[in-house]
Amino acid sequence: MISEWSMIGIDKKEVTAEASDVLQLFDAHQAKSRKVSLSNVKDRKAKLRSLERSILKHRDAICEGMHRDFNKPATEIDLTEIYPVLLEIRHAISNLSHWMKDENVPTPLSLFGAKSKIRFEPKGTSLIIAPWNYPFQLLLAPLVSAIAAGCTSVLKPSESAANTTIAIKKIIQDCFNEDEVSIVEGGVEVSTKLLKLKFDHIFFTGSSQVGKIVMSAAAKNLTSVTLELGGKSPTIIDETADLNATVSRIVWAKFINAGQTCIAPDYILIHEAQKEEFVKKMVEQLEKNYGKNTAETKDMASIINQKQFDRLNTMLKQAIELGAKVVFKGVSNGSEKGIAPTLIEGVSLDSQLMQEEIFGPLLPIIIYEDKREVVDLIQSKDKPLALYVYSKSKKNIDYFLNNTSSGGIGINMSAAHIGNSNLPFGGVNNSGIGKSRGRFGFLEFSNQRGILDQKMKSSIEFLSPPYTSGKQKLISFLMKYF
Ligand code: NAD
Repeated sequence: MISEWSMIGIDKKEVTAEASDVLQLFDAHQAKSRKVSLSNVKDRKAKLRSLERSILKHRDAICEGMHRDFNKPATEIDLTEIYPVLLEIRHAISNLSHWMKDENVPTPLSLFGAKSKIRFEPKGTSLIIAPWNYPFQLLLAPLVSAIAAGCTSVLKPSESAANTTIAIKKIIQDCFNEDEVSIVEGGVEVSTKLLKLKFDHIFFTGSSQVGKIVMSAAAKNLTSVTLELGGKSPTIIDETADLNATVSRIVWAKFINAGQTCIAPDYILIHEAQKEEFVKKMVEQLEKNYGKNTAETKDMASIINQKQFDRLNTMLKQAIELGAKVVFKGVSNGSEKGIAPTLIEGVSLDSQLMQEEIFGPLLPIIIYEDKREVVDLIQSKDKPLALYVYSKSKKNIDYFLNNTSSGGIGINMSAAHIGNSNLPFGGVNNSGIGKSRGRFGFLEFSNQRGILDQKMKSSIEFLSPPYTSGKQKLISFLMKYF
């Protein structure tokens, strides 16, 4: 039965054929979600295996779609899109029996005779909204968690990566009925309509600005949310860092996907003693990875669309107007919306480049003398999604760890923490709410139901009125000792 339009806050007059499809789909999901929630370990593992097979079958289609969307090199697609999802599936299959098992917990003496446990029950019907920058990984990794948890899922991919969505549709249609996992395509209007529905959980990956819109829409239905957002992830290089390893890791993490990575190093904070050598080695490494004439490289993706391309160029122009100096700019990579790796010094902290998430292959380098300046700068900004420290000094590493906060942290490494499903992945405050991947993702899609099972004939109720002095003494005794 189709829900009442008014109950979900959609004005009947504004309902288009498309929106009515969405409503019917949502109702079908709700009807199916009870059956899916009763699925056992074997059923869920079978679904995950079927998803794995389907991904491998459509590997070429994924590569073709993403190549069309933003010229992403095939090796990078395998490494950063397909393989992480396969890893996530395999990790879930290996651990699912353990995750789904009721967890026994201790019971206080005041509740003597009872047994306590936590059951991980599926939340129900989930909505997963993804961005364009890793259009495959960021839609399917949360789906793995939703399947593991026993939820049905409506997937809303980004409209900016429509060719990748064609491949994802094939994968999903191969292994799921439409009332269990389905894809709803479209931009802001479709997303807005979906957000009015009373989903049991919303998992959103995207910008902090849209994250706020998602959270306020979810609040109307008191739907729980996971928000995987963005931010400016600082990279600190102190006076003791080994520059060879530092530079190759930073070049990899910053310029993969043409810098369009939520956990890419956003800006460098480098000790003055290391700056000159760092820039020299960065240029050498960039030329090693992408060739002396980056116009010929096929190994760097393009910027996703004209809007992002213009935004990055405007940012750079404004920084230069405010006094910044470009110390290295490779030749444009020749593709229509290619921006070559660019290193910038003397950037004003008031420039857009230092105020907004960069999300492209522009890398500001800021010099510091005293590590307190670093902490002051980081603390003056929103808590980032990631923070990186390159150092050989344990004292310095501890100092930066203890005096900053971020969703995740890489020590002598950048962006690789997302590759370990045993670590929680996500932001803090402005960079996100809730964690994903592995068991953390499973928990986001699960209701942790506390179960207290009292088998004794008499329990805490023997302390009910009338409140005699004996009962009062017993309560005082409990308060003092237990
Ligand atoms: P975006 O926030 O513009 O869009 C994300 C999704 O939200 C898209 O599917 C889009 O259709 C939808 N959307 C856009 N505007 C909306 C609105 N007003 N109402 C409802 N839905 C709306 O993000 P993007 O440009 O696609 O991606 C880049 C951002 O995502 C960056 O800020 C980046 O840091 C962040 N990101 C975060 C992570 C993470 O794991 N934390 C990963 C990748 C990207």
